[in-house]
Amino acid sequence: MGKVTGFLEFERLKEASEAPGSRVKHWKEFVVRLDDTAAKQQGARCMDCGIPFCSSACPVNNIIPDWNDLVFRQNWKQAIDVLHMTNNFPEFTGRVCPAPCEAACTLNINNDAVGIKSIEHAIIDKAWENGWVVPQPPKLKTGKKVAVVGSGPAGLACAQQLARAGHDVTLFEKNDRIGGLMRYGIPDFKLEKWLIDRRMAQMEQEGVTFAPSTFIGSQEDAAAYGGKLTCKTPDELKAEFDAVVISGGAETPRDLPIEGRDLNGVHFAMDFLRQQNKANAGDKIKGQLSAAGKHVVVIGGGDTGSDCVGTSNRHGAKSVVQFEVMPQPPESENKALTWPYWPTRMRTSSSHEEGAERDWSITTRKFVGKDGKITSLVGNKVEWVKDDTGQMKMVDVPGSEFEIPADLVLFAMGFVSPVQKMLDGFGVDRDQRGNARANAEDYRTNVDKVFAAGDMRRGQSLIVWAIREGRQCAAAVDTFLMGATELPR
Ligand SMILES: Cc1cc2nc3c(=O)[nH]c(=O)nc-3n(C[C@H](O)[C@H](O)[C@H](O)COP(=O)(O)OP(=O)(O)OC[C@H]3O[C@@H](n4cnc5c(N)ncnc54)[C@H](O)[C@@H]3O)c2cc1C
Ligand code: SF4
Repeated sequence: MGKVTGFLEFERLKEASEAPGSRVKHWKEFVVRLDDTAAKQQGARCMDCGIPFCSSACPVNNIIPDWNDLVFRQNWKQAIDVLHMTNNFPEFTGRVCPAPCEAACTLNINNDAVGIKSIEHAIIDKAWENGWVVPQPPKLKTGKKVAVVGSGPAGLACAQQLARAGHDVTLFEKNDRIGGLMRYGIPDFKLEKWLIDRRMAQMEQEGVTFAPSTFIGSQEDAAAYGGKLTCKTPDELKAEFDAVVISGGAETPRDLPIEGRDLNGVHFAMDFLRQQNKANAGDKIKGQLSAAGKHVVVIGGGDTGSDCVGTSNRHGAKSVVQFEVMPQPPESENKALTWPYWPTRMRTSSSHEEGAERDWSITTRKFVGKDGKITSLVGNKVEWVKDDTGQMKMVDVPGSEFEIPADLVLFAMGFVSPVQKMLDGFGVDRDQRGNARANAEDYRTNVDKVFAAGDMRRGQSLIVWAIREGRQCAAAVDTFLMGATELPR
């Protein structure tokens, strides 16, 4: 603990950001990391708790009090070494993690939590700038070959760990660029894509081979996915490699099959976000979905919905409305009840700050259109009541029906499961939610030498969970191949 009285002397600082009015005019990141003095003060607020709840709440168990102290002492080099011990990609989590560590911080009980995420952001950006993030190629090669399918944070973390353990790793990805949802889901204004490219360069020097535009599955499914793809079947992978990790994400979006679903202008959020991310990468998108001059309605109140709001505002939408079926959460939580857990409370994202009308307890009844194009949305208010079995049930509020103009409707209601055909192709069993069945100890599926990690195993989640799963799965694969492992879990 660098400064015993730090938490009494200094207030929590929010990272500075460009004003909403000017940042909606571009796609770049707009959050400015803490400077050294500010980071030092924020580090000084940490109380170096006997039981660091922050670390246990963090899915990768970042050793937070240690790097808070190192930043207070301005020992940045050692701070990044400690941070990298538990997290392969702090530049991603330092930008877009919801930071469960901060909800669990002891200071959060009766004060503002330590700004853990902003300190993480400062450490990793400074480390890259100073050339401290260098490739860590293995000293010895094992001669074992591992295929990792899916290049999101789970696949990337798994591939990096396995390459560092000396295995020949090939990372297969059906998209033309590596990165999973970090590349084509999350918009540039939250996470610029050169950050992924920079890590890829490091990983290549550590021995990872990237194979984008390679579909793992049948020729038929590859053709249906579209684009010029190389195709490899699961059987080919199993024959060529000593172990296969499937980390293909949870890509089946939740649909709303109601009247008017087929009208032009009703789309899944990912179609909209993927196209914009590709356009930002310089690709020409024929007939790109645009919110310009349109009344946009986003259905779903989570991260994906919020990214649709930010993207629509940057397109120049006429209006943006976001509906959530669940009731409006309280402005702030009752910390005595919720701490150290993740609380349900009103969250206003940076995209919301840029302008959107939000409403809760809303269900959508139908879409109305003219000449095949959507023109309006009909919905009503609902109430959540307990039924006889104690389960919460949605009940329509009589007389609350409304109709609003809508030219573009985006479904952001989450993801149901992984694409089942990929699991079928490998012959992998599923759990009751349709995810690949494998435990979080050995990550093994029912199929010999096939492992599963990330959203494909746990269902839709977060980047930090995907990194954890990728790391732990790598340790399990290494143990399977070598009989023992030195990789951390
Ligand atoms: C719009 C959006 C915003 C989000 N924002 C945040 C956020 O701010 N913070 C946060 O922590 N989390 C966020 N998330 C969640 C987070 O992105 C995911 O939990 C995380 O990316 C999951 O990582 P993963 O590696 O398991 O899978 P993914 O990132 O989904 O990657 C899976 C990869 O597998 C590939 N693949 C699938 N099938 C095949 C196949 N047959 N052959 C070859 N390749 C295949 C896919 O193309 C994909 O690239 C967001 C999600 C979305 C959709
Ligand atoms: S819980 Fe908060 S105050 Fe305690 S060690 Fe972690 S960051 Fe520091």
